[in-house]
Amino acid sequence: MGFRDLHAHNLALLAKQGWRFLCNPTSLVARLYGAKYFSQGDIWSSVLTSSPSACWRGIYSSLPLLRSDIRWQVGNGATIHAWDDPWIPRHVTFRPVIRMDGGTLWVKVYLCFPDSLGMSTWCESGGGTSAFWKSIWFANVPGKIKVHFWKVCSSILPTNSQLCSRRVPILDGCFFCNVEEETIMHVSCECPFVKDLLNYFPSLGIVQTLHMVHGSVRDWLALCLGNLTKMDASLFLILVWFVWKERNKRLWNGRFASLDQLAFQVTSFYHLHMSVQAHSRRVVGRRNIQWTPPSPGWLKANCVGIYDASSHSGGGIVVVLKNSSGSILGGVCSKVRWVSNLQTVEVLACRAACNLVDRFGLAPVAFESDFQRVVTTINSQGVNISLLGRVYEDIFTMLGSLHDSYFSYISRTANKVANMLPRFALGSDFDLYWSGFVPTEISGFIATLCTN
Ligand SMILES: [Zn+2]
Repeated sequence: MGFRDLHAHNLALLAKQGWRFLCNPTSLVARLYGAKYFSQGDIWSSVLTSSPSACWRGIYSSLPLLRSDIRWQVGNGATIHAWDDPWIPRHVTFRPVIRMDGGTLWVKVYLCFPDSLGMSTWCESGGGTSAFWKSIWFANVPGKIKVHFWKVCSSILPTNSQLCSRRVPILDGCFFCNVEEETIMHVSCECPFVKDLLNYFPSLGIVQTLHMVHGSVRDWLALCLGNLTKMDASLFLILVWFVWKERNKRLWNGRFASLDQLAFQVTSFYHLHMSVQAHSRRVVGRRNIQWTPPSPGWLKANCVGIYDASSHSGGGIVVVLKNSSGSILGGVCSKVRWVSNLQTVEVLACRAACNLVDRFGLAPVAFESDFQRVVTTINSQGVNISLLGRVYEDIFTMLGSLHDSYFSYISRTANKVANMLPRFALGSDFDLYWSGFVPTEISGFIATLCTN
């Protein structure tokens, strides 16, 4: 079935059972195992007794794997093991460390509003694995090329070497150099033909300098993509895919293209793809360019967040509340610290919007955010086990009390005021929630934006 490491696969399945114990502690099976093996606490306090069942022995052996990807979402602090649980955001171990110089390290953790217990959450970053797959699936190349690299990284590309190992009668040499065995690594990067083709593209020169003594083709790909700009990464993926396409043409059609012809085909394909992408972006942009006021009797809250990726120090959140005639009735302008990505800032902006509306009793409100994934998660209303799960819970709770209010997606370019304020919030130390008159700190800025 293509499993490369059965032991790791089994361990992952067992860890999944342990994860279910954490997510559903009141289920019958969790209570049964709990009564027998960890009656004094949770699964982390369990020990391997003298004669455990085979199932529990398996689950217990997977706990170190489970622990490596678990983070603790702080609730009211009643159940946290402050020194042992991985609860500190953006830290190597995610656990507290003692500074030898006696200094104090302050961290900011986003707590939920209601008084609730903490819970285990799944680490979204997941080390390098999920980041690598994101770089493939979100690459600016056609879907068939992404699928090709999924096959490459999953070691299921039908190269001669792979087919020989499955006893399919076929020649085992490389179609380009006729010297080496045709492995996935060879046909993707090691073959002199690939290297010669790379020489046609000076912007991909850095790939030639990256050498891996050990490591899989996936490691090599991650290294290359990590050292290329987004545009060059697209060109690089297209080039490697074209080499495989050329290999298939030689095998099945007997047609041989020269290096010059192949380089021309790669360049043409790349530019055609980029121009199509640019055109579709223009069409989508034109469709969503206008902000529209809410219906009479309704208010509209636009939530925007900005993340300062250059310094990794924080972000700014802004909410602008308008009525059906377009007048600003209230808003939020605040700087947030200790956030590690844009999604966190955007979710905090949505929570701030709900908090503003809830605090001043303003409803019904049409909330708008420009972060599609956040809007989808809020509208799903399901249990969220990510690190932002508690923040989403706050949004669900407040949204439930705001009758008829709802969240929808809007293009970032659609609201000039909400779009420009976050940078203003980032450069200041404001923490403003207002309704009615615009606070004097930002009234000048708002007036400038409204008159432009
Ligand atoms: Zn070769």
